Amino acid sequence: MKITRRDFVNGVLAGSGAALLKPGMVMSAMSNNPNRVDMSWYGYGGVGDYANSHGNTPDVVNTAHRLRDGEFSNLPNSLPIDEEYDLVIVGGGMAGLGAAWHFKKNAKPGQKCLMLDNHPIFGGEAKENEFSVDGETLIAPQGANGFFVPPHADDPEQASGDARYYAEFKIPRELPFNAWSSKEKPLNACRDNFGYLHWLLEGKTNIGYFFDTDSGGKWANDIWNHDLKNAPLSNEVRESLLQWHRSRSENLSAKEASEHLDTLSYKEYLEKELNLGVEGAAEADLFMASAFGLGSGDISAYVARDVAMPGMLSKQQFEDGVPRRNSFPGGNSGFARYFLKHIKPEAIAGKNNFDDIITGAINFSKLDRPDDDIRIRLNSTAVAVQHEGTAENANSVRVIYSHAGKEHAIRAKGVVMASGGWVNKHVVRDLPERFHQAYQHFHHALFLVANVALKNWRFMYEMGITAARWQGGFGYTANIREPMFVGRHRPALDPDKPAVLTFYVPFHTPGLPVSAQVAMGRAELFFTSYMDYENQIRAQMTKLFSAAGFDHNRDIKGIILNRWGHAYVVPTPGFFFDTKKGQAPRNVIKKGYGRIAFGHSELEGFQHWGPAADQGRRATQQILDTI
Ligand SMILES: Cc1cc2nc3c(=O)[nH]c(=O)nc-3n(C[C@H](O)[C@H](O)[C@H](O)COP(=O)(O)OP(=O)(O)OC[C@H]3O[C@@H](n4cnc5c(N)ncnc54)[C@H](O)[C@@H]3O)c2cc1C
Repeated sequence: MKITRRDFVNGVLAGSGAALLKPGMVMSAMSNNPNRVDMSWYGYGGVGDYANSHGNTPDVVNTAHRLRDGEFSNLPNSLPIDEEYDLVIVGGGMAGLGAAWHFKKNAKPGQKCLMLDNHPIFGGEAKENEFSVDGETLIAPQGANGFFVPPHADDPEQASGDARYYAEFKIPRELPFNAWSSKEKPLNACRDNFGYLHWLLEGKTNIGYFFDTDSGGKWANDIWNHDLKNAPLSNEVRESLLQWHRSRSENLSAKEASEHLDTLSYKEYLEKELNLGVEGAAEADLFMASAFGLGSGDISAYVARDVAMPGMLSKQQFEDGVPRRNSFPGGNSGFARYFLKHIKPEAIAGKNNFDDIITGAINFSKLDRPDDDIRIRLNSTAVAVQHEGTAENANSVRVIYSHAGKEHAIRAKGVVMASGGWVNKHVVRDLPERFHQAYQHFHHALFLVANVALKNWRFMYEMGITAARWQGGFGYTANIREPMFVGRHRPALDPDKPAVLTFYVPFHTPGLPVSAQVAMGRAELFFTSYMDYENQIRAQMTKLFSAAGFDHNRDIKGIILNRWGHAYVVPTPGFFFDTKKGQAPRNVIKKGYGRIAFGHSELEGFQHWGPAADQGRRATQQILDTI
């Protein structure tokens, strides 16, 4: 289906492209109830199976706010039990899918499981957007999107994380990318929407840096490949940044060293342990906030080591180099679809092969069939989970969920909460005090992914770039990916062909307390209408690219916003290890209690697809050992 201007306007009350509207019209475009959002907030969703589920939906946001505000606190105990299961999984993201897959392989014959997810489609933050522009299908990630092919696991059962599932599902290790389709001089593009922000990978992408200087805006391309000599920076700042880039450390692998790193933020580590200036930490803020929600001053140095930040690698590791990252057309929706295909083969049209799994249509009617051992129920929010009796002695858990405005009660022998702490502390009604205390240490940062479908990206080609970075205005970065070929989905990497420009937008304000940064970001994400964001995006692109021939009326064919209200847990110093003062909060939660177990990627600190599924697996095994 072609996106017409009419679709755009009808679907979302989109602003007129001709006249940019002023911010400040925000609230008038929102729902009458200031605590609720509606379609003027949500906006256009594209085409295909994911069109009604881009980011958090109004229904998810409104139900979650009703839950937070206590509207479900007096549900009648008399609500009749509709169904009984051995296991109920709350959450259908990578963790919930990992839980369901483990149940499928390890449940006793006849045991039954129900997964509840509050969105219209499974996958959590691993979903995709689809556009149709000039007859071409364009697919882009809504959130989670890039990966390294993991080491091969000979025995998947003995492996964990990415390697385990990659081997178990036989995901291809050689992935087909379309490097360059134009006859003109090729440019380098990143394969995901993330790698080009990392210092070890940015040199592999043609990136334009836009500097607002006293004498106006200035572009400098591929500045790190030029040792920053072409960037309008003072000698002092340039030298400090280069020093940061070149910094190495040899003594970071021992357990004590790891525990020590977790007592510091990455910024403190750079300043106190490596005696570097403040510029490196400030430069790292964007990558850190894109991976963990907030900047270098808020994130544990321990996790900065996991992502090989400057100062965290030995000379040898650095010289070993880094492989390229990859991304399926819809990002990590590819992994979510692999899980679904193995849990419920008929739920995705086609065979159990790469092409069909990644591009096959979802058979929604096969997700929740009465005779299936595993059922997946969408658009269903768990609003109350509680043992029937004391946690120590109960034989069952009562789960109440809300679907289409009506509450239903079900009974389970055990429950896996594959949902985050911000949900669990409201939903799990008999949650012990020590869990509430542990969850106080979980701060959740938010994120916006804006996918902009372009008729062509000739203007960027003329500038010699496939990615851009800037400071101030809407967002900080945007890029065009080198696309993967899958079956008949063969998008071009050609500046005269349609493509998606993806903006990854964290909400960090370095220097403010974590809670203040999160609250400010949440207010912006919640109170900004689709129309206002559309106008900001058009204005930002006009500022950056109009001199190179960009015309927002002519070149933009669609915009999808994916708003994630609780995108990442922020792994602040102290998040990871038990200390003499007590257990790390995440280790308190992992223990579970009674017949309720907790398995969500936030318990890893560094949220990632394979470990997310491992968390679901661990929690499911806890329940299988109990029931
Ligand atoms: C912008 C962004 C980029 C990322 N990039 C990457 C990447 O490149 N690679 C990578 O591996 N990871 C990436 N991640 C991390 C990603 O979040 C994890 O890898 C993983 O997908 C999280 O899975 P999860 O199941 O733990 O959580 P989620 O994906 O949050 O899934 C939880 C599900 O439970 C649902 N739910 C919550 N409460 C309820 C309730 N009461 N009732 C019913 N359902 C409920 C949620 O709505 C959601 O659908 C990224 C994340 C973001 C936000």
